[in-house]
Amino acid sequence: MLPHIDLDRCTGCGWCVAVCRPHVLSLQAQGWLKRAVLHDAAGCTACGKCEPRCPHGAIQMLAEPPISIKP
Ligand code: SF4
Ligand code: SF4
Repeated sequence: MLPHIDLDRCTGCGWCVAVCRPHVLSLQAQGWLKRAVLHDAAGCTACGKCEPRCPHGAIQMLAEPPISIKP
């Protein structure tokens, strides 16, 4: 299981980044906005804490890897 981040819903608030113990989520600039990115999928423990922490419902834990992560 890995978190999938809906970039249309993500406001860049950073709550998911703060709750992620292995620090595999980060905020990255996309134009003048910031969005959460899973920058180290291999380091994700699949704890699922980021999903309920997102106040905007932008994170979903799914079995398949995110599109941005190459197999
Ligand atoms: S908690 Fe949700 S809205 Fe906030 S940065 Fe993370 S994914 Fe984006
Ligand atoms: S599932 Fe856990 S380890 Fe993986 S990104 Fe979310 S908070 Fe971090």
